[in-house]
Amino acid sequence: MMWIRPGFEVYWRAPGSSQIGLDPRCALLLDGLSGGEQRLLERLPECAGPEELRAHARDLGVPARQVKSLLDRLRTAGYVLEGPAPDLHPSLVTGPDQGYWHRAAMAGHTRPSDRSDAVVAVHVHGLDPLGLRLACVLTHAGVGAVLLHDERRVRHNDVGGGLYRAGDVGRMRQDSATAVLRGIDPKVRTRRGPGTDADVVVLVRAGVADPVDYRDLMRQDVCHLPVLARELDVVIGPLVRPGEGVCLRCLDLHRCDRDPRWPAVATQATTRAAPAAETSLAWLGAALAAHQLLALVDGRDTLTDTSLEVSAWDPVPVQRRWRVHPQCGCSASALLPAVAG
Ligand SMILES: [Zn+2]
Repeated sequence: MMWIRPGFEVYWRAPGSSQIGLDPRCALLLDGLSGGEQRLLERLPECAGPEELRAHARDLGVPARQVKSLLDRLRTAGYVLEGPAPDLHPSLVTGPDQGYWHRAAMAGHTRPSDRSDAVVAVHVHGLDPLGLRLACVLTHAGVGAVLLHDERRVRHNDVGGGLYRAGDVGRMRQDSATAVLRGIDPKVRTRRGPGTDADVVVLVRAGVADPVDYRDLMRQDVCHLPVLARELDVVIGPLVRPGEGVCLRCLDLHRCDRDPRWPAVATQATTRAAPAAETSLAWLGAALAAHQLLALVDGRDTLTDTSLEVSAWDPVPVQRRWRVHPQCGCSASALLPAVAG
């Protein structure tokens, strides 16, 4: 069984010369083609497999040996693959993410894991518009379970941006958010059940991360990503892998070094209302957080010990590197200075 990688357009360059794709990292130049082969190649984007290409060849009067030679060249280049065909007829490749990863594979970047098995929990006070937008991106991207948890109700200023509607005001956020996600993918799982232990938990919070949340996650050895909408910016990360690198208590201890009264202030801030994120920062924050979560889910490289801060005046996200605090004790490297001292 052979199938044709979808998502590439074919372009005529000169008599005898065509190219598949535009980006040099994934494009293929084909020279020495007959006029018939060039016309046949232009039908490639409509074909799911060699049989359809052969049918077009018969219509165009391209001899079978030329079709075979063309298919051999495409197979060598990776545009035609052998093996069980995924559900990839060009007319069915509707999701932009699926198409993207087929193009990325031609540039040598493959997605190692199936997102439909992934469980991402968007937790706690997570379902403000930023959190819901993040959940929408994950659902669009094919994550199988996006667990929603927020025990507050939809407020008037949550409405807008194609997310919560006026009729949702007063309903439980997690119920309205579930309806939004089901509109994207009716099969997405949004509630915890058997076999839905979270691979990663997102803490979408206003102002500060609550130690109660992250202490439990550290104890349970669950990877977590804070997304904080603060007064002037949105901060994404650092992604915490318990026992490997910096944790959120490390960040609090670094803040205490600069401001000894920080614990008193932080404790109050966990219970206070905070302003909603500015519109462009809410979109950017949701997208940057989703980008990191999908990398984690896919098994790609993620940022280590680094947070990203987006504000209205920095044209690009500001990266802030963090180190394990020597008094935290969250990882083996944190214990070393304490033992030595
Ligand atoms: Zn720590």
